[in-house]
Amino acid sequence: MSATGRSAWVALMAVVIGDPAALDASACPSCGYRRLDVLFVGDGATRIGWATLWCGDCLRGIRFSRVCAPRDLPFLTFEVAAVRSLPEIIEVR
Ligand SMILES: [Zn+2]
Repeated sequence: MSATGRSAWVALMAVVIGDPAALDASACPSCGYRRLDVLFVGDGATRIGWATLWCGDCLRGIRFSRVCAPRDLPFLTFEVAAVRSLPEIIEVR
């Protein structure tokens, strides 16, 4: 796997958590398109759960578990997420 693989996505997630504006400013590590999106799903009180970062163009992305959702990025509680249709992504390995 090249540098455009999973490690590039992991690095991108760290950037987005530190600076939510990077979501719109960054290119997809897999296809280069700028259509990245992120969603956190977790406990309503602790905001701990999992996260998905994906590209709306090629639908590739990655999932993280046991992360704490930042205040300024999209977040759904487990209860709300259970009744929503969540993005179907192709997980980058
Ligand atoms: Zn892409």
